[in-house]
Amino acid sequence: MKFNTKTIHGGDFEVDPAYNSVMPPVYFTSTYKQKSPGDHKGFEYSRSGNPTRLAFEKTLASLENGNHGFAFGSGIAAIDAVLKLLKPGDEVISTGDLYGGSYRLFTKIYQDFGIKFHFVDMSQASTIESYVNEQTKLVWVETPTNPMMNLIDIEAVGQLTQKCNLLLAVDNTFATPYLQRPLELGADIVMHSATKYLGGHSDVVMGSLIVNDKELADRLYFIQKASGAVPGPMDCFLVMRGIKTLHVRMQRHCENGKAVAHALRKNPHVDKVYWPGFEDHPNYEIAQKQMSDFGGMVSFTTKEGNLESAKKVVERLKVFTLAESLGGVESLAGHPATMTHASIPKEEREKTGVVDSLIRLSVGIEDIDDLLGDLEQALT
Ligand SMILES: *Cc1c(COP(=O)(O)O)cnc(C)c1O
Repeated sequence: MKFNTKTIHGGDFEVDPAYNSVMPPVYFTSTYKQKSPGDHKGFEYSRSGNPTRLAFEKTLASLENGNHGFAFGSGIAAIDAVLKLLKPGDEVISTGDLYGGSYRLFTKIYQDFGIKFHFVDMSQASTIESYVNEQTKLVWVETPTNPMMNLIDIEAVGQLTQKCNLLLAVDNTFATPYLQRPLELGADIVMHSATKYLGGHSDVVMGSLIVNDKELADRLYFIQKASGAVPGPMDCFLVMRGIKTLHVRMQRHCENGKAVAHALRKNPHVDKVYWPGFEDHPNYEIAQKQMSDFGGMVSFTTKEGNLESAKKVVERLKVFTLAESLGGVESLAGHPATMTHASIPKEEREKTGVVDSLIRLSVGIEDIDDLLGDLEQALT
């Protein structure tokens, strides 16, 4: 099946053997009747398994071309499950320019459990190699990065992790499987905040992992069950409904993102624009190689270059809503320095380009004229 068919019919499973409903039923149950001890239909207790959750896990796994999917109560809970594969003394090499919540989980929780993190500029995959030692177990990649829109060559990093026998995990939240499928490029684990584009309607918080390897899948299933950060069946249903239109939404997000990026570049009140579709973007070749389009995320700095000017712009926006998060049908604007990236120390964040005048846009699927008009009036 092609991708656009899989979003609707994906996850080759029997949706409803009882009544043939077209949409999977939402199984609001914590437990399942057994005929005699151990004699059941594959479900015993909803922390270890729920049919609605299983339907979601199979659907997303099929979109990522993976064999096993796992759902979690949030994207962060999915990352937390990956880190539980590690032991004290282990080391992780991570993208420097990283989602703030991932950085917080790494440095404020797992560092105290004796795991060491290296935050590295991965624009050259070979840079990673100088940080690899006996203790290194995991390479954590986010691409495109948030909010600077740098790209990391997943295939090149994958060759390195395979050579050094390390796990490679890719946070694919920004790109979605519509634009980029890391397992096909050599990653071992794909992670999603399903809260964003997969859900697509800003009405649910959920996360997911997808893998191919059976042994890794068994370990992650054990962690999912033993630590218990599972989503409820209604959340799984909502994200599955969102996924049915993922391809149509992404197509429009990409079109609108492109128009916004080009308009911002021409605007005299704008300094820099960060969007991987510009031919002069330093990672344009990687974008062309590993993504099928450039997505709906665009960041920019104001010409005035200070906190005040950025604040004024986001306060004046009317169609764009000032809010955390991204990936919904509605356009959102965020101010990373005070919102999503506030937990990263100022010196750390400015090193990666997250300055006070930076604004991040999640370009939605509204009429493009309204979006461009809104930005124009807010910047003038
Ligand atoms: C939102 C987000 C997360 C965290 O996901 P939650 O669902 O909010 O827990 C992780 N990575 C990226 C890139 C995100 O945008």
